[in-house]
Amino acid sequence: MHIYSENQRRLAKNIAADATRSNWTDWKWHVRNSIKSIEGVERLLGIEFTEKERKALRNTTEKFPMAITPYYLSLIDPSDYRNDPVFMQAFPSTDELRIESHDMSDPLHEDEDSPVPGLTHRYPDRVLLHVSNTCAMYCRHCTRKRKVGDRDSIPSREDLRQGIEYIRNTPQVRDVLLSGGDPFLLSDDMLDWLLTEIGGIEHVEVVRIGTRTPVVLPYRITDELVEMLKKHHPLWINTHFNHPAEITASSKQALAKLANAGIPLGNQSVLLAGVNDCPRLIKVLNHKLVRNRVRPYYLYQCDLSEGLTHFRTPIGKGIEILESLRGHTSGFSIPTYVVDAPGGGGKIPLMPNYIISWTANKVVLRNYEGVITTYHEPAHYEPTYCDRECTTCNLQLREADAEEKAIGIESLLADWDDTQSLTPEENERIGRRTDAA
Ligand SMILES: *Cc1c(COP(=O)(O)O)cnc(C)c1O
Repeated sequence: MHIYSENQRRLAKNIAADATRSNWTDWKWHVRNSIKSIEGVERLLGIEFTEKERKALRNTTEKFPMAITPYYLSLIDPSDYRNDPVFMQAFPSTDELRIESHDMSDPLHEDEDSPVPGLTHRYPDRVLLHVSNTCAMYCRHCTRKRKVGDRDSIPSREDLRQGIEYIRNTPQVRDVLLSGGDPFLLSDDMLDWLLTEIGGIEHVEVVRIGTRTPVVLPYRITDELVEMLKKHHPLWINTHFNHPAEITASSKQALAKLANAGIPLGNQSVLLAGVNDCPRLIKVLNHKLVRNRVRPYYLYQCDLSEGLTHFRTPIGKGIEILESLRGHTSGFSIPTYVVDAPGGGGKIPLMPNYIISWTANKVVLRNYEGVITTYHEPAHYEPTYCDRECTTCNLQLREADAEEKAIGIESLLADWDDTQSLTPEENERIGRRTDAA
């Protein structure tokens, strides 16, 4: 049974005079009644902006629309709303219209690495499929801000077929990420169909869903949804908690249902100035997550998308946070800190430096306490020359289908690949060679 607090009851009645408890726990009621106007937020939170502020905020929502679920709004503390982490993630800031010179509308080049509409194929063995064009709540820090509210629609089966066909025809894809928008805004039937289609493709080994509904609309995680998801293992889910205040009784219930269905849960946080840029806060968040069987997966550096300048921290803040975690707490409470490369290079992991120096015989390392230690390299390690013939190797992998080519840095390291250097194609030096030829 979900909690229906006095605050939530009052809020529900202010949204619709005849609202009942069962309306409140009905996810579709929240989607229908999501708050989309500045005045709506003022009225429901009992706060007031000046006419000037209101006008500036309206200009902001014209470019970047707002939508807040009544549930998520109910978590805001009106007495200190300007510093409230839920308010800051849900309610526009006029700073969103401040576009700096290095900001981009699509910094990750998702639209360019897209062989068919709605699908991004960036890494060798996995693809991102955008299965929904909408979300329950529009996060102010959305990296896909350019698209928010754009085509606020649920795609048809026809719309999704091209993506499914691409996956079917691309045997190297073994991992499919369903993203959006939020895939859990699709109906159970549609999701069931989609998971059946994708799960039926022989080379697809795992499917992942990225959803923020456990955070902004926990009532979406119904028993019926979970019963259906259970049929589609191996299925992994990543959610998106950014602040301990988001871990409520209702969100805990949603997470428990998913975990009880045998679905491994991960969390992707975004480092946000004024919301969670604090080592202690991130540690508390991660501890709460693991208590609810959610493994912190990534901590993202805020992207260079337009409208996010006020949320960005220096990368140093992320390193500081990681320094405060490794060694200080359980390894499984520590996410990987990543920068998603502007220009579409994918995620780049960052952490403090632990290697201090190196010789042919010794490696000098430091730990989180500042202990500096030496690791002796083995005196008798027999490097095996790898010719990629796994079936004849002593390691008994016995797999005939080793990948054929090495990609990137791996190709520089591989014994069986004679790549000598990687050179950016548009390098001026290379340009001079072709000019001379
Ligand atoms: C993040 C991402 C993935 C998945 O990356 P993992 O590191 O495997 O979680 C895949 N495709 C795209 C385009 C991504 O941005």
